[in-house]
Amino acid sequence: MLRINENRCLTSFLLGRKCVFCGHRKSYRTRRGYRKCFYCRRQKSLKRLRRELLVISAFRRQQTALLTAHDIGIPYQAVKNVYNKLRLQIIRQCEQEAGRMSGEIELDEAYFGGRRKGQRGRGASGKSVVFGLLERDGKVYTKVVDAVSKEILMDIIRRRSRKGSVYYTDQFRSYNSLKRYGKHYTVKHTKLFVRKGRKRLVHINGIEGFWSFAKHGLYNYRGVSKSNFPLYLKEMEYRYNHRKDNLLDQLIRLYFGYEST
Ligand SMILES: [Zn+2]
Repeated sequence: MLRINENRCLTSFLLGRKCVFCGHRKSYRTRRGYRKCFYCRRQKSLKRLRRELLVISAFRRQQTALLTAHDIGIPYQAVKNVYNKLRLQIIRQCEQEAGRMSGEIELDEAYFGGRRKGQRGRGASGKSVVFGLLERDGKVYTKVVDAVSKEILMDIIRRRSRKGSVYYTDQFRSYNSLKRYGKHYTVKHTKLFVRKGRKRLVHINGIEGFWSFAKHGLYNYRGVSKSNFPLYLKEMEYRYNHRKDNLLDQLIRLYFGYEST
């Protein structure tokens, strides 16, 4: 049950209208059943190409590896290998794309996973702690942290944002020294400040929106282990930052290493 444009995307690679390795438009089918590119001369068996494209498409839909293996009729481990390679490429891509933020930036921490019972929120045990920065009208950047101390958070803020930016946070005390680094607004209730004719919306709805996006997305994978969590978190960051793009095309490019356009 592929979407029409998704189908078109897959067939354009299979029919050789686009090379998976370099994006070039001319390729031919060899006698051995390989698709070979006129331009980069690389080739791949059509059987394997079809299989890998279907797995990437299932990954795009966040289908579990088990169900995908069953759907396509290939071993679970073969699906797992494609999924793992995609996640590793995604991590590399996220680090490459993460520049230094500027302008208006929302900061927040969130807690993922762990047992239901016990303490919730700050100081909860068994959970993964994540710190996130979101540039308004821009991208989100996340980092799994050991603790939400002032030192750890400020270190990430310094590396990931430009001095003099405008920061929005909640009233957590680890943010107290932010005012020495830029302009700092804390959220009590969403409110509109009008100062010197400039409107400023004090809220962290953007980053909170990302947390619910990530929690919703991770739910599809039912129970991610704490050791694998950073891998899955980056996947969510990538999906969020590219939510307006043709994600399937992007994933195919990441997987086969095709860079241009
Ligand atoms: Zn090529």
